[in-house]
Amino acid sequence: MTNREIHVRFCELGKESRRIVNELVAMLPEIARLEIFKDYGCASVYEYACKYAGLSYAVVQKALWVEEKLVEAPKLKEALREVGVHKVALFATLANAQNDAALADKVKHMSKPALQELSKELRGNATPKMTIDLDAELQFLFNKIKKQLGIESDQEALKAIFKAHLEQKDAMKQSHKKVQNIPGDEKSKNKKQLSEAKNAADTQPTKSHPIKAPSGEHISVSRYIPAKIRKEAISKTNGKCTYPTCIKTFENLHHQDYFAHTHNHQNLVPLCKVHHEYAHNGLIQGENPQLTLSNETNYYDELYRKARR
Ligand SMILES: [Zn+2]
Ligand SMILES: [Zn+2]
Repeated sequence: MTNREIHVRFCELGKESRRIVNELVAMLPEIARLEIFKDYGCASVYEYACKYAGLSYAVVQKALWVEEKLVEAPKLKEALREVGVHKVALFATLANAQNDAALADKVKHMSKPALQELSKELRGNATPKMTIDLDAELQFLFNKIKKQLGIESDQEALKAIFKAHLEQKDAMKQSHKKVQNIPGDEKSKNKKQLSEAKNAADTQPTKSHPIKAPSGEHISVSRYIPAKIRKEAISKTNGKCTYPTCIKTFENLHHQDYFAHTHNHQNLVPLCKVHHEYAHNGLIQGENPQLTLSNETNYYDELYRKARR
């Protein structure tokens, strides 16, 4: 077997093994309810699950707990067979008859980190807060700069200070680059362009679209986002993920109005990986992203969801 063949076989078996474990776990509540374990020399369902399937105490406990919690969420319970108990358990205390279908859809299509974030947010624990103690010297400096800036609000003043600092750093970087721009550096430049283009790839990996401009002439809009437009989009949030409560640096530029449909680079939204998943799973809609637990996805979202699986 070649290395590639070994790897492919390993992944196939891994997938199969996860499917089997999910099936076994889904059977546990019934085994417990009917006390089937007693007929086979076991004192509890825990002992039975360990003896006959090698399942750990923690997994059995989770499976029984989830079963108990999901009485009003049959769709989410059913999804357990497909995605396993761990993803479903994240929503066990949140699920109800109203959100059952939406949550079942999310556990089937989203990654574990994104689901963890969603669960946190639905429980109201997602707003980050940071407290910094300022000693006398720092308070003096802060008040002095605030006065110079003429800004009353502490938050607005801090924003202005940080922004000025970043802009200054950017300007320094730019002038440094100009000095360093020596011939023979093409290779690294190409590499950078490639990674930028990859990052920019959103819903559909299309190279270029000849489209008709309003004036009548044909123009070609490339999937590659020009540096200027890219920079504009990122500067709107200073490189932060656009999602209001997120403190991560953006990782993807998301086409809010679906690139493949409109062929332009307007409405580019910088998002981290997790919130990009939100966007393609019907959780973020509109210009200013707020969480909506909906199942509204379009054709391009479906492409994204398929590619992720
Ligand atoms: Zn996207
Ligand atoms: Zn984010």
